[in-house]
Amino acid sequence: MSLLKELDQKDPAEIGGKLHRFAAELYPICRSITGDGLRQTLARIQERVPLQISEVPTGAPVFDWTVPKEWNIRDGFIKDASGKKIVDFQRCNLHVLNYSTPVRAKMRLSELKPHLFTIPEYPDWIPYRTSYYKEDWGFCLCHNQMLALKDAEYEVFIDSALEDGHLTYGEYYVPGRSTDEVLISCHACHPSLANDNLSGLAVATALAELLSGRDLRYSYRFLFIPGTIGAITWLASNHDAVERIRHGLVLTGIGDAGGFHYKKSRRGDAEIDRAAAHVLHHSGEDSEIMEFSPYGYDERQYCSPGFNLPVGCLMRSVWGTFPEYHTSADNLDFIQPQSLARSLRACAAIVDVLENNRRYRNLNPYCEPQLGRRNLYRSTGGEAIGVEINARLWVLNLSDGEHSLLDIAERSGLPFPAINDAAGVLRLNGLLSVVPDRAAGEAGPNGASQVARSSSKG
Ligand SMILES: [Zn+2]
Repeated sequence: MSLLKELDQKDPAEIGGKLHRFAAELYPICRSITGDGLRQTLARIQERVPLQISEVPTGAPVFDWTVPKEWNIRDGFIKDASGKKIVDFQRCNLHVLNYSTPVRAKMRLSELKPHLFTIPEYPDWIPYRTSYYKEDWGFCLCHNQMLALKDAEYEVFIDSALEDGHLTYGEYYVPGRSTDEVLISCHACHPSLANDNLSGLAVATALAELLSGRDLRYSYRFLFIPGTIGAITWLASNHDAVERIRHGLVLTGIGDAGGFHYKKSRRGDAEIDRAAAHVLHHSGEDSEIMEFSPYGYDERQYCSPGFNLPVGCLMRSVWGTFPEYHTSADNLDFIQPQSLARSLRACAAIVDVLENNRRYRNLNPYCEPQLGRRNLYRSTGGEAIGVEINARLWVLNLSDGEHSLLDIAERSGLPFPAINDAAGVLRLNGLLSVVPDRAAGEAGPNGASQVARSSSKG
C-alpha cells in the first residue's frame, strides 16, 4: 500500500482547495473546550467520517483534573452612549473572552478597562483569550479601537451560560490487521482561528477519509478533542486503547506557509520520530526537527511520564513564534491550500513508512545474487536507474532480519519509498522473505497471515 503514490496521482491544487474549503466551513463556529460549538464542529467532521461522539459530565474526575462546566454563548457586545455596538460578538467570535460568565451592566471606561484585552504590538488585530478555570468575563478588541474609547458610560452584555453539562470529544477508529494502534490527535477547541486548530482538523479528517476502508497493518484512532482537558479526559477513560498505541502524531498548525517542524516524542528515538524526520528530510521543503519539551500541544499529556507514549507533534510554524498566533490574523488567508495539501502528503508519507517498515531476510546472503540474470540490474522505470539499483543493493545487504526498511533508508540516504519498492521487487523475485509481524498475528514465513480483521472498536 502506498498512500503517497495514490495522492500524487491527484491534482494537489484540488486537494488543497478541498482542505481549505473545509477549514472555511468550520471557521465561523465559536468553539471552546466544551459546548455546542465543539459539538457542531464534530458533527461537520461526522459528515465525512463516522465519528463516535463521547460526552463526559461536568465534575468527572480525570487524573488531577475535573471536567469543567459547559460553556455556551449566544451573543455579546459593548454599546457606546449612543447605543451603537462598538464591539460585537456576531462580527467576530474572538471579541468575547472565551468562557466568559454572563454579564449585563452599564459602567464607566475605567471600570470596563480591566476586562478589555488587546495586543499593543499589533494594534489592528483582535487577541484570542480564554479564562477556562477562573470565572471572569471580558472582551478582546483591537488596541487602536481601545485607545479611541472615550471616558464615557458603556453598556456591556454577554449572553452566555456556564453550567453543569458535558465535555464532548469525537473519535474515529479504523481497524487494521493488528490491534496495535496509531493515534492521530488534534484539538478542536479554538473559535475562529485557522492555523491553530482548523488546519489540523482539516488534514486529520482528510487522512481519516484516506485510510478508511483500507487493508491496513495497524489500526488507526483519530481523536478530535478539546486541548489539554480533552486529552487528559480521553487518557483517563481509555486505558485499553492507550496500551495499544505504538505510534502517534499530534497535528496542529500545518496550514501556514512556513516550513515543517516536527517535535519529537519524549522518548526521542521512537519509530514515529524517525519516520517523521526521514519523511520531512525528503519532503523537498524546509524542515526542522525539535527535541521534546514539556510545553506545547497535547503531546504534553501523551508524553507525560506515566504514559510516555511515542507521540510526536507535526507542525509548520511553531506555536507562539509567529505574530498571528492566537490573534484574528490567524484567519483563512493565513492558511494556504498548497500548504495544507503538502501537509496531508507528509502525513500520508509518514503512514506509508509505519505501514511498510518491515524487516526482511536476504535468502541469498552469500555474495550478491546475480541480479542481471533476474532482469533486476536495470530500471523498471520511474526512479532514476541509480536510485533503483542502489536501493536493491542496500536492501539485499542489510536485510539480515535485524534491520528494518527505515534503518536501511536512513543508512543509505535513499527515500523510504525507493527502499520499499526495492524490497517489493526483491521479494517477488524470491530473494527476500519478510520477518513475521507478531503484533499482526503473522506466524509463518513470507508473511502468511493468520488474523482476521479486527472490527471491534477499541
Ligand atoms: Zn492555541
